[in-house]
Amino acid sequence: MKRIILLLGLVLTVIVCHGQEFRVGAAIRVITPDPLLPVSGGVGTPKKTIEKKGDLFARAIVLERGAVRVAIVSVDNLGWTAALGDKSRALIKGISAENILIGSTHTHSAPDAYGFPDENGRSLADLAYLDNCVKKIADAVNEAVKNLTPATLKIAVGEAKGKIAYNYYAEQLYDPRCGVIQAIGKNNGKVIATLVNYAIHPEVIGSDRGILSPDLCGPLYDRIESRVGGVAIFMNGAQGGMVTADNRLDASKEAGTWEECIRIGNLLADEALRIVEKAEPVDTPVLACSSRNIKFPIDSEMMRYIINNSPIKMTSVRDNVVTTRLNFLQIGNAKVLTIPGEALPNIGFYIKRKLNTDQAFLFGLTNDAFGYILTKVDFNSFNRNEYVSRTSLGELTGEIYIQEVLTWLEEMSAQNQLKK
Ligand SMILES: [Zn+2]
Repeated sequence: MKRIILLLGLVLTVIVCHGQEFRVGAAIRVITPDPLLPVSGGVGTPKKTIEKKGDLFARAIVLERGAVRVAIVSVDNLGWTAALGDKSRALIKGISAENILIGSTHTHSAPDAYGFPDENGRSLADLAYLDNCVKKIADAVNEAVKNLTPATLKIAVGEAKGKIAYNYYAEQLYDPRCGVIQAIGKNNGKVIATLVNYAIHPEVIGSDRGILSPDLCGPLYDRIESRVGGVAIFMNGAQGGMVTADNRLDASKEAGTWEECIRIGNLLADEALRIVEKAEPVDTPVLACSSRNIKFPIDSEMMRYIINNSPIKMTSVRDNVVTTRLNFLQIGNAKVLTIPGEALPNIGFYIKRKLNTDQAFLFGLTNDAFGYILTKVDFNSFNRNEYVSRTSLGELTGEIYIQEVLTWLEEMSAQNQLKK
């Protein structure tokens, strides 16, 4: 009898240990269109391209601890709406849809994924290309699941130094903090994936140079992967109005070249690796994923026109109110919150402070991409804010977002869901 109990105990221990094992997998897919397609840097007709610099990618990391499985995906595009993301989610096996975070890097040199209609209601978006991307995104996640292997995590947040980003509207109004999550294989000590979270507009090249490109994100991936191996993935932050790449030559001129993309991408990669280098690996990090729906009124005439006339049908819109999903992740000591658009940097600072950790991550343009998100006092205020106000859902988007997040954090705290 004693023996049986001992054996039972051993079996249970094995099950529990295995159940709590932490695993990570990563995979990528190239989504460069062949032949090349016009590119979009915002509302309006996409611009013709005649060459490419670098490739566009879908990049996926899957994290797993026990029964919890989470996918983080980044797409080299201006914005990736839930209308497209949900099609990929339906093709992904073994991860529930609410645990699949899909963000866009916000490169301004990739094909139109919004289906921006012109004044006649016509869109030039290539739906076959987008459909192909949908499949490749799902393929990348499914392969990342197959690649799951025991891992430890290094997590760090620090200031990325050097000429990387600045605020085009008010030079110093940007967040220099760069968050890094690096997964290392337990079996061989090799880097599986390095995730970089930083707020910046990858618009060095932009949409009117005849070039299709991941912008500075391409060189960022290449540099990280050539230095430490594994898969590099970039998640943008609160980069709205108007945190951009610092490729200034002087007060009035920007370089706007692929060489500048390489310089900035390499520098951000080197800074990210420097920041994470000394972090202590965590053996079995906490992993939790929650989600919550949020509703925004669509007050902007232009946004209504786009949503009503785009060939990419947004089923989440009813009576000029859109419903979208927020995610909150706890990965080790890191807390990650998603933003379904481009929050202005002051909102980013505020939310990071309220996350109440020195490892705060914001994944901007994730799960949806509804243009700029301003506080009501910023909306239609300075002349400088005219463009970002016009390309936002409305005056209250930022207030609703902030309130929803604060309520959610309070609820989770009251229910002791915030793991220490
Ligand atoms: Zn933008």
